Amino acid sequence: SKREGFSAIPNVKWENVGGLDLLRKEFERYIVRRIKHPENYEKFGVNSETGFLLYGPPGCGKTLIAKAVANEAGANFIYIKGPELLNKYVGESELAVRTLFTRARTCSPCILFFDEVDALTTRRGKEGGWVVERLLNQLLIELDGADQRRGVFVVGATNRPDVMDRAFLRPGRFGKLIYVSPPNTDERGLILKAIGRKYPIDASVDLGEIGKWKACENFSGADLAALMDEAAMAALEEKETSIESLDASSWTIKETHFQPALTKIIP
Ligand code: ATP
Repeated sequence: SKREGFSAIPNVKWENVGGLDLLRKEFERYIVRRIKHPENYEKFGVNSETGFLLYGPPGCGKTLIAKAVANEAGANFIYIKGPELLNKYVGESELAVRTLFTRARTCSPCILFFDEVDALTTRRGKEGGWVVERLLNQLLIELDGADQRRGVFVVGATNRPDVMDRAFLRPGRFGKLIYVSPPNTDERGLILKAIGRKYPIDASVDLGEIGKWKACENFSGADLAALMDEAAMAALEEKETSIESLDASSWTIKETHFQPALTKIIP
């Protein structure tokens, strides 16, 4: 769930994320190991915090992997939706941004995740007026305050990197741009396997093969999650209406449940 503004260690593990191996390695290097062994980084003089911007089409795992990073590092995670930060606090925007970073520092190590971050940066100097201008300037001040940011890592996510204000893309801000692509054939299988961990999949089902089905070609991770859910429902309904299988513990999802489920998902 995406509970705005609260800090907690998320329960998403690496094993719940399918594909995205390169991205995972980047995060291991820049965030996870750094939180686990800060002394090594200090010894070698690495002291600037790195900010990331994940970009790509919706539903491909940007939020999910950021949560897994936090879990892996044992760090807190604060989820902020760009447009809501903008709307909620108009009038006391600088204070809101300052409070946000203070909260993040208080619970550091912490990953501060800005979803739809482009909403925060595109309006600078445009229709938003001086209130928005001040919010954004405060955001830049906080992002640049590397010394005070100790243990606070910012990750932004957007579908529209092209509309981002350039000032935000500098090193130390949302400076490391990483494309989160829609899954290819093999990655679809990996995502289904990752999602499938939480479902009673029959041993006869090869999720890697289902990922190769033509009908799944344009599916995002979110579409695959929806597919899994539909298949589970189909299995459940079948079992509920059959008289033989009274023992619910033996209920499983079979390949026959995926085929009809496909018709319910429009990528
Ligand atoms: P948005 O831009 O809409 O916020 P996003 O890229 O942040 O999209 P997520 O919120 O991470 O997408 O993904 C939505 C859901 O889709 C996840 O909760 C998960 O169920 C599923 N999903 C997406 N990508 C993956 C993946 N790589 N592995 C496993 N599940 C995934």
